[in-house]
Amino acid sequence: MIYLDNAATTKMNSSCLDILKKYSEDDYFNASAMYKQGNNLHKEIENAKNTLLSLLGTNDGKIYFTSGATEANNMAIFGSATFKQKKYLFSIGEHPSVYNTAMALKNSGFDVDFIPLSNSGEVDYTALKSMLSKDVCFVSTMLVNNETGVINDIKKIREIIDSVNPSIRLHVDAVQGFCKVPFNIKSLKVDLCTLSGHKIYGPKGVGALYVSKNAHLKGITYGGEQEEGVRPGTYNTPGIMAMTLAASDMKKDMMAQYNYVKALKSRFIDNLTPIKDKIIINGNGSPYILSISINGLRGETVLHMLEQDGIIIGTGSACSSSKVENRVLTAMGRTKDEVLGSIRISFSKNNTQEEIDFAASKLIEAVNKLLAM
Ligand code: PMP
Repeated sequence: MIYLDNAATTKMNSSCLDILKKYSEDDYFNASAMYKQGNNLHKEIENAKNTLLSLLGTNDGKIYFTSGATEANNMAIFGSATFKQKKYLFSIGEHPSVYNTAMALKNSGFDVDFIPLSNSGEVDYTALKSMLSKDVCFVSTMLVNNETGVINDIKKIREIIDSVNPSIRLHVDAVQGFCKVPFNIKSLKVDLCTLSGHKIYGPKGVGALYVSKNAHLKGITYGGEQEEGVRPGTYNTPGIMAMTLAASDMKKDMMAQYNYVKALKSRFIDNLTPIKDKIIINGNGSPYILSISINGLRGETVLHMLEQDGIIIGTGSACSSSKVENRVLTAMGRTKDEVLGSIRISFSKNNTQEEIDFAASKLIEAVNKLLAM
């Protein structure tokens, strides 16, 4: 099998499996318990938080561990939604875990609006500027788009926000960029930042929300006293430790992996030269993600054809792949046919040049065959 759907999820590092085992079989205690084993684990969780903070480029603020990025995004948005008389802005290109949460906020009576994308797939910075006012209290824009790989200029977004009102809270879903592309939370003045374990070779079902020291967040679930009640529930110690290890390992090697994956992506694109007139590349950004539209074909058909050759790719986001319409590509100005014909190829450190060459040749074969039908 050649796995090229790494934006949907990555294969977990075997070192994480060892950690999951250690904290499930040996150090399995409840980290909130009052005896020594509980206290020790609590300290290890605090250390894990500090590690993540430093990987994000800061030494202050808080980390709340969650059940994944979906929960972290819900917490960031609902936990910030205090004033009904204020305005909440979201980029229209957000992952469903942000977009649908924004819609839920809107449906419960909040003033919610969506910032359009430009044809390049980035947030439309001019539109953002025109939508900002003293009434806006919250802006949410992702770092790397999960469908196109397009990178938003968070520095520029923060500057635009600051020119209107520096106290506007900025939330960044960094799931597809954390440990993959350079990103420093402190210099960018990000208030809330969402992370996920399973996009960085860590386990599924664990994520984190960073909250800056000035951004007070209200909890959205009720339970015990963990995390001062903001995010109650027994700590997922195995997941927390394994995710933190995955992040540390990846960050250490970030630029080497970035360059490796970048070379794979360029090679894949070069290999597609024979069909270059039949495809459009949707956006340009992270080396980890390549979105292509094939004129006259359905992405789904291409996906299944490649599957027969043992090549796994995606169409748009796995979370919304059952839907024909595509909010992100449509917002970038893609036609209905281009949306229907879109596929997503996403790379990882585990892919080889041979895999890339084979997958590209099979894609060319599939496109030519299907177009001739
Ligand atoms: N945000 C982005 C940008 C994503 O790509 C994903 C995963 N597809 C999520 C949020 C949700 O992550 P999780 O699976 O950890 O809930």
